[in-house]
Amino acid sequence: MDNEQYTPPNEMPVMPIQPVLTGQVAVVTGASKGLGQAIAIALGQAGARVLVNYHSDEKGALETVETISAEGSEAIPFRADVAREEDVESMFAEAKGRFGRIDICVPNSGIQLNAPVDEMTLQQWQRVIDVNLTGQFLCARAAIRQFKRQGIDRSLSAAAGKIVFMSSVHDIIPWEGHVNYAAAKGGIMLLMKSIAQELADKRIRVNAVSPGAIRTPMNVEKLTTPELFKSKLLKLIPYGRIGEPEDVGQAVVWLVSDASDYVTGTTIYIDGGMTLYPGFIGAG
Ligand code: NAD
Repeated sequence: MDNEQYTPPNEMPVMPIQPVLTGQVAVVTGASKGLGQAIAIALGQAGARVLVNYHSDEKGALETVETISAEGSEAIPFRADVAREEDVESMFAEAKGRFGRIDICVPNSGIQLNAPVDEMTLQQWQRVIDVNLTGQFLCARAAIRQFKRQGIDRSLSAAAGKIVFMSSVHDIIPWEGHVNYAAAKGGIMLLMKSIAQELADKRIRVNAVSPGAIRTPMNVEKLTTPELFKSKLLKLIPYGRIGEPEDVGQAVVWLVSDASDYVTGTTIYIDGGMTLYPGFIGAG
């Protein structure tokens, strides 16, 4: 079993998604796999038409598109590097051109290029900042320009537009060996709050989600035995289970629906309590 991968059981309760986004259009970046794919599919299940962005994994993006179409909504794939301004501008032009409007933006793309701080190259630092922070800024800016042009259409939503930034528990938990990643996620927090403050009077709602350990290749590949899962990862999660990409998808659907109309400038931690200082459990 040494080099085999251990798959922890899926203990997430199944909650059907209601069609609360019918008629709306979403742009989701990095939607070829992992969290972006689950978010795009959840938004499609809620009735939104979705632009499925990918960087290099066209096959994954087409799978996302096919799933959304098979479940009754519409989706299109679009290749773009979110760190490139011209790519992001073309992507939003394509969403507007194909679907006629844009209501929801989920800049989710993210990468890790890890190294001890004194060995981290400027290139490793810069690429992570470019994709994980600047990329999210470029997408939010393009979405906001469109939201302002459209204004509010009350037949679709009480808000003129909704943005959900993809952050991480590492916007508050320091992470040795990942200073570029943690700096980008920490930056997302005040990017999100400052935009939320600037645009609240336009009824543009801006929030973030900060996942903990979610079952994506990034996390699961580290688990080779049930013992390793229990002793390493589960020790950090008071709720006692790994998160599923759908846990994040459902939260995003709520955050962009009118059910959360009074919520702006907030981060939702989807982490099974990882940010509750689990090391203090039993330490009182
Ligand atoms: P993943 O590697 O499975 O997916 C990352 C996605 O980003 C891929 O679709 C990839 O194609 C895309 N991408 C990478 N570079 C890009 C670029 N230049 N332009 C456009 N797209 C690009 O990772 P994931 O676990 O699904 O992570 C998605 C987001 O969630 C990231 O922002 C990550 O920081 C965040 N996150 C993940 C976890 C977790 O447990 N998996 C926890 C906290 C936060």
